Amino acid sequence: MSIVKIKDKTFETSIPEATIKERVRQLAQQMSKDLDGKNPVLLGVLNGSFIFAADLMREMTIPCEISFVKLASYQGTTSTGKVHEVLGINEDLSDRHVVIVEDIVDTGRTMKQMVESLGTRNPASIHICTLFVKPDKLEEKLDIEYAAFSIPNDFIVGYGLDYDQQGRGLKEIFTLVEG
Ligand code: 5GP
Ligand code: MG
Repeated sequence: MSIVKIKDKTFETSIPEATIKERVRQLAQQMSKDLDGKNPVLLGVLNGSFIFAADLMREMTIPCEISFVKLASYQGTTSTGKVHEVLGINEDLSDRHVVIVEDIVDTGRTMKQMVESLGTRNPASIHICTLFVKPDKLEEKLDIEYAAFSIPNDFIVGYGLDYDQQGRGLKEIFTLVEG
C-alpha cells in the first residue's frame, strides 16, 4: 500500500497498475470483437481519458481511429446547474461507429450530454466506454456497454484522473483518505 499527498489531501493505492492493464486489455478485446469490420472512431473526452484512450487503442486488435473532444462547463440558470458544451468535433462522424471514451461516469450528466450532442451528427452507432462507473451516484439512464471498473462513491486520482490538475501521471489508482 502506498500513500501520496497531493496539496492538502492524502490518497492511498486502491487499484494496482497490473490490474488496470489487464482490464483495459479485456475491454479492448471485447470491443474488437463487437466492432469488427466497423472501423470505429474512439472519441476520448479530455482531459481525464487521455491515458486510458491511448492504452485502450494500443490493445485494440482491429483497425480503428481516434479523436478527442473537450467539454466546456459553465453554471447555467436551470435547476440542473451545470451545462456542458462539446468542443472540438471537427471531423465528419456521419455513418461512423463512435465509441465515447471517458475516465469516469459519476452522475452520468456529462455522458448524457455527450451522447445527445453526438446524436445530432448522424453517426451509425454510439457506444459508451468508461474506465470507471460509480453506480451509487448514477442518475441518468445510460447504456454503458464497456466499463472497466465499478467503484464505490469515493474520490479517486491517477491514470489520467486529477485532483486540482495534479496526480494524472500516477500509474496506479489512488483513493482519497477521508479525515
Ligand atoms: P458526471 O457528469 O458523470 O457527474 O461527472 C463526470 C466527471 O466528474 C468526470 O468526467 C470527472 O471529470 C469528474 N469526476 C467524478 N468523479 C471523480 C473522481 O472520483 N475523481 C476525479 N478525479 N474526477 C471525478
Ligand atoms: Mg471526465
